[in-house]
Amino acid sequence: MKRTFFMRLAAWPAVCIAAASALALASPIAAQRLVNADGTVDWNRYYSADETNRIMRDLAGRHPGLTNLYSIGRSHLGADLMLIEVTNEETGPASDKPALYLDGGIHAGELTGSAVALYVLGRLLDGYGKDERITKLLDTRAFYIRPKFNPDGSDLALKEGRRLRSTVRPWDEDGDGAVDEDPYDDLDGDGFITRMRLEHPNGDWKLGEDPRILVRREPGDTVGPFFFVTDEGIDNDGDGRFNEDDVGGIDMNRNFPRNWQPEYIQSGAGPYAMSEPEVAATVKFIGDHANIAGIVHGHTSGGFVYRLPSSSDPATFDSTDLALIEDMGRPYTETTGRPVRPSSTDATDHRYGTLIGWAYDVRGIIGWVPEYSPADAWITDYDGDGRISEVEALRFNDEELDGRYFTPWRRFPHAQLGEVEIGGWHTRFWGQNPPAEFLEAECKVQLPWILSLLEKSPLLELGRVQIRAQRNGNVRVQLEITNTGYLPTNMTERGATGRATQDGGVTDMIVRPPAATIQLEGGTVIGPATILFGHLGGSNGFSAAFTESSRTIEWTVRPVAREMTVTVTVDGGPAGIARSAPVVYR
Ligand SMILES: [Zn+2]
Repeated sequence: MKRTFFMRLAAWPAVCIAAASALALASPIAAQRLVNADGTVDWNRYYSADETNRIMRDLAGRHPGLTNLYSIGRSHLGADLMLIEVTNEETGPASDKPALYLDGGIHAGELTGSAVALYVLGRLLDGYGKDERITKLLDTRAFYIRPKFNPDGSDLALKEGRRLRSTVRPWDEDGDGAVDEDPYDDLDGDGFITRMRLEHPNGDWKLGEDPRILVRREPGDTVGPFFFVTDEGIDNDGDGRFNEDDVGGIDMNRNFPRNWQPEYIQSGAGPYAMSEPEVAATVKFIGDHANIAGIVHGHTSGGFVYRLPSSSDPATFDSTDLALIEDMGRPYTETTGRPVRPSSTDATDHRYGTLIGWAYDVRGIIGWVPEYSPADAWITDYDGDGRISEVEALRFNDEELDGRYFTPWRRFPHAQLGEVEIGGWHTRFWGQNPPAEFLEAECKVQLPWILSLLEKSPLLELGRVQIRAQRNGNVRVQLEITNTGYLPTNMTERGATGRATQDGGVTDMIVRPPAATIQLEGGTVIGPATILFGHLGGSNGFSAAFTESSRTIEWTVRPVAREMTVTVTVDGGPAGIARSAPVVYR
């Protein structure tokens, strides 16, 4: 494990204001082409919400038969929440196909999440017709890709370098009745929020082997100098604390209507579930799309994936679903070398109101929260001891990146603290996100697993409609319906949860069983035209509720004309909608 340096970085809430690449974004060359003439995009670059929308528009214009771009709502500041469908429309619209919802950037500074989603879009469009795996996937299934979940917050983090977890909606984080009144301050005006260190005999930090580094003072350490360390800023509201009520404060991934809890239990929860328009739009979109069979909710950083359970007691989580989820997470570890971890590990001390917790609870969907970008993915382990020390990180930044991501400590006359020094890592692009020059490599490693998740969706396959005459002049119409997917049509045991009936059945399941409807020209059906025939099992070995993957459905029909045309439509929810070829009976 190479975590030592990172854990220390994670404990430092220092944040950069704008890396060199981000400054370039704010420049007036905004109208430059972002998609090259050959359709390629520079993936080693962070894009603003507007630039991301322009890239999506350009790519959609180049691939009209594979895309459908639209807004699913508006952000707090009124920005469109853009989403793009990706599928081969010749084989049916996205709404007829099992789909994976992929987003990024719900947390403002987690810019790699947005980058991965946009990159996946680019790779899908580029790969269709060339890459067999992608072609097959887009012929049979669909993606819903939403790179900027939170355009307001992401832009504030990217363009202005503001430290912000989620939405920009003003929020009283310190409970003093005022909102956003004590933000971080870029005192030295270098464009980054870094760290301040104040030399003091009681300080709890001391200089490390490289004097740019601070390490914890150990008990018994008497040889100074010692330092107090905090984030760059002033105590704007004079309450004795620094930077404790910065812009925003609501965490949108605690604002979903599943096991939502108020602020005193879940900080960042917001005033009530779905108070944020970005969350409400998400709930409506996923809620309105019964064909969504998986969710990848992209975050940064850490270099692992959070799996279910998320916003509930892990002891109450269905063990069959857990085994299934662990199986689906295994390819992530195989292709990236990174672990899969439960999002909830304690009966009560867990997250409340998360997206994947909600989607599993109300829709039976398996969602994933990849935390992209482990910092040690790109820093050289110079001494080969298997871990990245902060000294190695500094050396890498010095030697490979011209020292761009660390501001040297410089003296600064602080109005409240007297003489301090300001300096440190630009953590927004060094730790939280990779330096832009390593962004594409980080995006690339995510692709195989993301493809594998959609490949595991349930998928309906119809046999040929069989019509047999009966003695009484009626005909019997039969159709074999098969789920060829890995997941059952109910996706999870949660999806098959419903109310027990007196005859031992289950009604009102979370995922409605597939429904086959017969359509006739020149005939009338005797009995119901629509038959709910029960869920179909998948090829995975975990499903307990439904194991048979194939079923033959039957209708009795009375022909009323010399020629009768029979078509069957099967709505399989997350398994997609399948339509039989019309069969003519004379
Ligand atoms: Zn996050």
